[in-house]
Amino acid sequence: MPALPPAFDKLVTLLSRLPGIGQRSATRLAFFIIAEPANYAKTLGQSLVESVDHVRYCADCHTLCEDERCSICRDPTRERGMLCVVETVQDLLAFERTGAYQGLYHVLHGALAPLKGIGPSRLKLDNLEDRVATQGVTEVIVATNADVEGEATALYLAKRLKPLSVSTTRIATGIPMGGELEYIDQTTLSRALSGRVALDV
Ligand SMILES: [Zn+2]
Repeated sequence: MPALPPAFDKLVTLLSRLPGIGQRSATRLAFFIIAEPANYAKTLGQSLVESVDHVRYCADCHTLCEDERCSICRDPTRERGMLCVVETVQDLLAFERTGAYQGLYHVLHGALAPLKGIGPSRLKLDNLEDRVATQGVTEVIVATNADVEGEATALYLAKRLKPLSVSTTRIATGIPMGGELEYIDQTTLSRALSGRVALDV
């Protein structure tokens, strides 16, 4: 097979770094992009640059936003005494879709996984205690995934928050073991939230 243009190879290499995209998928995507009208690639490129330039993490909850603080943290109608700790921004969105939760969030951007070398310092935890202590938080709802890493993270958080006078709860069962919150239906997720139990450590 004759060599493809270097610019095409570079595109394939960059695309293949995306999660879940191997060399074959990257090549297919690259052929698709090249075959589309040039405007598509230009808009895609601009969008990539804009997202890197403008999207950042909320200073309080670490979800994605364009300002210092996200629209949820700035919303005066949200219950500021409740903090729901989730692993990912997608999990936050899953709770928002239920409409059953009116408190604030804290996005960890991961879960503890000692075997993969992911310890507490790799999670967005630095300002958690500070938020609890200074923002009048009375309950921290730990809504990490129902898998080994999510459970380990929940226990770690319960221990870490114990010295603070805050109630730490864990979303209830109904979430299948190994279940990723992002894919749980809204009713199950709402029930898991309302049936949360105290995390005693
Ligand atoms: Zn926020």
